[in-house]
Amino acid sequence: MQPYVLVMEDEDALATLLSYNLEKEGYRVVVAADGEEGMLQIDERLPDLVLLDWMLPKLSGIEVCRRIRGRAETRNLPIIMLTARGEESDRIRGLDTGADDYLTKPFSMSELIARIRAVLRRIRPGLADHLGPTEFRLLDHLMQHPGRVFSREQLLDAVWGSDVYVEARTVDVHVGRLRKALNVEGTVNPIRTVRSAGYSLDLGG
Ligand code: CA
Repeated sequence: MQPYVLVMEDEDALATLLSYNLEKEGYRVVVAADGEEGMLQIDERLPDLVLLDWMLPKLSGIEVCRRIRGRAETRNLPIIMLTARGEESDRIRGLDTGADDYLTKPFSMSELIARIRAVLRRIRPGLADHLGPTEFRLLDHLMQHPGRVFSREQLLDAVWGSDVYVEARTVDVHVGRLRKALNVEGTVNPIRTVRSAGYSLDLGG
């Protein structure tokens, strides 16, 4: 499972360039050409990170940012804001609204990739570098339903597939590895063990 980046950008040429470069780096990319479409894409599937253009049709970048931060299930979604030169005061407002980082256009692709990695590493440590494919699928599944408790059997079906024979204990082993990857000193681990029920992911608890 590749990290999924949602690009909200109305300039076709830039959107194409972003997709091409991000896909080359191993990210899965979806482009939304306006704020409303972007919000629909988020409802469809929760991205790992949003690249958000400041000046967007229908819903502005700042409004999208506000809505993302205002909803429990997307409150911690990493956002990198893309602003045009001369929007310096806007960019401060962008950070006030809750963007994790910002880049001023024009920017280099290597700069952008470095920022994405840094934000993912800070917010979901381990996600960018250290997750095995099973841990990635596990995290991906849990992230699509934050707060919901999954039994080991449900996780086996969702992550390994119902036609594969794997012991329930295997789930514990991989959850353990995922927990370790997500562990940051001084923060509560987002993966919760629910006694005799299973596991759930709590974001921003
Ligand atoms: Ca724009």
